[in-house]
Amino acid sequence: MTSPRNLYSQLPATDRLLRDASFSALLNEFGHTRVVNTLRDMLDGAREHIRTQETLPPWNDDWARQAKQILDAEKRSALLPVYNLTGTVLHTNLGRALQAEVAIEAVSQVMRSPVTLEYDLDGAARGHRDRALADLLCELTGAEDACIVNNNAAAVLLMLAACAYGGEVVVSRGELVEIGGAFRIPDVMRQAGCTLVEVGTTNRTHLKDYRQAAGENTALLMKVHTSNYQIAGFTKAVSESELAGLGQELAIPVVSDLGSGSLVDLSQWGLPPEPMPRQLIDAGVSLVSFSGDKLLGGPQAGIIVGKKELIARLQSHPLKRALRADKMTLAALEATLRLYQHPETLVERLPTLRLLTRKTAEIDQLAQRLLPAMQRRFGERFEVRVQACLSQIGSGSLPVDRLPSAALTFTPKDGRGATLASLTEDLRRLPKPVVGRISEGRLWLDLRCLEEETGFMEMFTP
Ligand SMILES: *Cc1c(COP(=O)(O)O)cnc(C)c1O
Repeated sequence: MTSPRNLYSQLPATDRLLRDASFSALLNEFGHTRVVNTLRDMLDGAREHIRTQETLPPWNDDWARQAKQILDAEKRSALLPVYNLTGTVLHTNLGRALQAEVAIEAVSQVMRSPVTLEYDLDGAARGHRDRALADLLCELTGAEDACIVNNNAAAVLLMLAACAYGGEVVVSRGELVEIGGAFRIPDVMRQAGCTLVEVGTTNRTHLKDYRQAAGENTALLMKVHTSNYQIAGFTKAVSESELAGLGQELAIPVVSDLGSGSLVDLSQWGLPPEPMPRQLIDAGVSLVSFSGDKLLGGPQAGIIVGKKELIARLQSHPLKRALRADKMTLAALEATLRLYQHPETLVERLPTLRLLTRKTAEIDQLAQRLLPAMQRRFGERFEVRVQACLSQIGSGSLPVDRLPSAALTFTPKDGRGATLASLTEDLRRLPKPVVGRISEGRLWLDLRCLEEETGFMEMFTP
């Protein structure tokens, strides 16, 4: 038997490895520093292996290949593109809305070149960076002015901090929502320095409840859209227009956290209707906030539209500076909003709307085309079928309504959960990982969001 001392001396020297022809491609791709650091770690690993196992490590035959594997793995981005076949179109953990091509182009342009972010070429002092977008938003919502921040959570925080700091905000008990990711209305109130006054009950709140709660210290009356749940049965909520009427009477502004909100009437495409910012503005609500990357289909952003003097307060609040959107967000949002000026081509050019309105028959045909290749690839261990399913919009938009869709389903022939888990694992290790959902003991790949048919097919055909 070879003694460990002997094994140590069989390890190569870094210098010799680096001179080896097999390393020149690695040096070219990753540079001298990273390759040397990787080799040092590998040598440490090799010594450890000899110490504990008393054998040479398996990679002693091919150091270049092992180094390449390590370096390639490190190169894998934290933001790896995947196929979203979960059936949730606006999937928060997968980055929500896909951007329109015009938005992608607009972002690349502002990344490459200096832009007139807060600079007027004609010398007219317009003030802040949201100006151009605010004009567009006014056109699309009927509001007097607008303010843009990092996301809708930031929008709510800013509205409360700028309009109600030190005062009371009246909200219905049925609307004290948690959106996920630690966004809870009562906590945001505290952070914004306001006191929450709950009115009504979980299922029923009346206008008189707001009226009774309003007093000297009331700074705002607030509505929160219950976007991720629904209260059904014996219920009563006060509409925005009723509340706006009361606000006018008492001279207290009414604000609404709309969550998603849609700039167009979705029912024209057979989708369940979602409240539109314009309706709330028309109803007399003072400020309305909503997300840029939910139904609007743009980048992550928080949009606040409403009364000029309140927006001016938001714009000049110190938190605005901390929460403001950057030029890339503003560029993508502007390009997305411009698509709404041309509603005839919206479905075609806005990916979110295109995916939400995709015909069930078209998705089903896609599933039928993919089925034979999937059966060939997975048929030994799984029963692969096309099944009807229901997609959801996601991100708290339209929580109850589901969209008829079609899925490829994989049921393990051995009925074992472990077999299913290994399939999920395999799909996640593909060049472009596939994310599906498990339910009823099988894996579902909802094909509503699969538009890249050829690229997808290539991963499963030899
Ligand atoms: C989604 C949502 C938020 C949070 O919006 P983000 O853009 O994710 O920060 C806040 N309020 C409501 C009602 C929502 O639906």
